[in-house]
Amino acid sequence: MSDLQFSGAVLTIDLDAIRANWRRLRDRLGATGCAAVVKADAYGLGVERVAPALADAGCRVFFVAHLDEGVQLRKLLPGAEIHVLNGLLPGSASEFAAHKLVPVLNSLGNIDEWREFGRKGGDAPRADLHIDTGMARLGLPPSEVQILRESPDRLEGMKLRYLMSHLACADEPDHELNQRQLNGLRAAQAWLPALPVSFANSSGIFLGPDYHLDLARPGIALYGGNPTPGQPNPMEQAVRLQGKILQLRDVDTPQTVGYGATHRVAGRGRIATIAVGYADGYLRSLSNAGSGYLGDKRAPVVGRVSMDLITLDVTAIPRKQCAPGNLVDLIGPLNPIDSVAAEAGTIGYEILTSLGSRYRRVYRGGAD
Ligand SMILES: *Cc1c(COP(=O)(O)O)cnc(C)c1O
Repeated sequence: MSDLQFSGAVLTIDLDAIRANWRRLRDRLGATGCAAVVKADAYGLGVERVAPALADAGCRVFFVAHLDEGVQLRKLLPGAEIHVLNGLLPGSASEFAAHKLVPVLNSLGNIDEWREFGRKGGDAPRADLHIDTGMARLGLPPSEVQILRESPDRLEGMKLRYLMSHLACADEPDHELNQRQLNGLRAAQAWLPALPVSFANSSGIFLGPDYHLDLARPGIALYGGNPTPGQPNPMEQAVRLQGKILQLRDVDTPQTVGYGATHRVAGRGRIATIAVGYADGYLRSLSNAGSGYLGDKRAPVVGRVSMDLITLDVTAIPRKQCAPGNLVDLIGPLNPIDSVAAEAGTIGYEILTSLGSRYRRVYRGGAD
């Protein structure tokens, strides 16, 4: 990692904000358990720092996507309950057992494999049973749920942890699929072995207590994403990205900026070049659309985002604020991840998980 002085950008990750967000969700959930989803390197923020901070805040249950991520997390958190959403891959059962990872069983095939592993005397941890109530992605589809209902012996002798399902439209509270999924889950619950139920992601928590059930699985809200789009963000920002100004260009005769000549400075103007580009996860769709902030003054991205650089129009900003070496907020108080996402035509999740590896990373806060 390069020195602050010589790096092109600083990414500050506020572990105290992440911990505060987890506690805020926990408090909102009352008697419902609050897990933490730390897949994809804790949404790009660095699982090695984020997971211990969450554990320190009181979180005991974690979800990752891949088996590899579970193995990595096990080393960080020897005592935590770790669930692996993508489930079993053929032949992987002993690996789950060796690292005490809870597989999410997503199909009858998964169920059969895990049951046979247990029968052969493997010291298998409990497993989750995932039923699909409206995603058509992972989980047992209704046809497989029906087969399971007709042959309950398939679950015989299995130790299960949670019955789970996943919401498709939790960020749209008025979407009719939410209630339909809840009904589907309740119907399956009625004949499956009595198990605690896990349903809500971040936005699901804000659909109200009916959706809380026994364990919530928030991810994005922990990292400052707004789980209630269109309404004020109830979470604290956890990420700030500051890009460094490399050069200031005075334009006095009309000319174009960047590849493809997509922006034209018509009269006099000033362009600041920043040491961040699409190779850093500053999405190319922010070309002529993104914003930097110098203090409270907005400087629009003009021209195309290139691999290592972007250009901002700083004509309206006092020259001394734009001196080479100064930092510009590319994600900050006035342009949080959801605003950047809107400008890029994507979602905050993609902004976070794209954050590049060339940034100088600084962690704030952490253990009490
Ligand atoms: C990623 C994921 C979550 C977390 O979702 P957020 O919207 O980030 O809170 C929860 N459950 C499942 C199955 C997931 O894949």
